[in-house]
Amino acid sequence: MAYDDQNIFAKILRGEIPCQTHDECDHTLAFHDIQPQAPTHILVIPKGAYTDMSDFAAHASAEEQAAFIAAIGRAATKAGLTEGGYRIIANSGAHGCQEVPHLHMHILGGEVIGPLRAR
Ligand code: 5GP
Repeated sequence: MAYDDQNIFAKILRGEIPCQTHDECDHTLAFHDIQPQAPTHILVIPKGAYTDMSDFAAHASAEEQAAFIAAIGRAATKAGLTEGGYRIIANSGAHGCQEVPHLHMHILGGEVIGPLRAR
C-alpha cells in the first residue's frame, strides 16, 4: 500500500489539525485518541511516512525503530499505566481493521481491558 500523505495522522504531524500531545521525541509523537476506548487511550506514531508495522520494519532506520519502541514504553510509563498494566495494539490492513493508514500503536489502560477478542 502506498503511503497517503493526506491521512489524518500525517495532517496532525504537519500541524494542520490539532491533537492533545502526550509525549514527543525527534522520531515519534504520542497523543490522546479522539474517541477513547478506555480511560487512557494513547496513540504512538513514528514521524516518518510508514503505513503499518510491516512497512516500518522493512524501511525504517534502526534509530527510528529503536525510538518507536522506546516511545511506546515511555508513553505508558508517563501515563501512569505501569503498575496497573495496559495493552498495546497495532491494527494493520483490512483484516486488522486499520482505519488510519499511518503506523500507530494503541496504548489502552486505566481499567481491565478484557479479552484480546470479543467472544
Ligand atoms: P485504527 O482503527 O486505524 O487502528 O485506529 C485509528 C484511531 O485513530 C481510532 O482509535 C480513532 O479514534 C483515532 N483517530 C481518528 N481520527 C483522529 C483524530 O483526528 N485525532 C485523534 N487524536 N485520533 C483520531
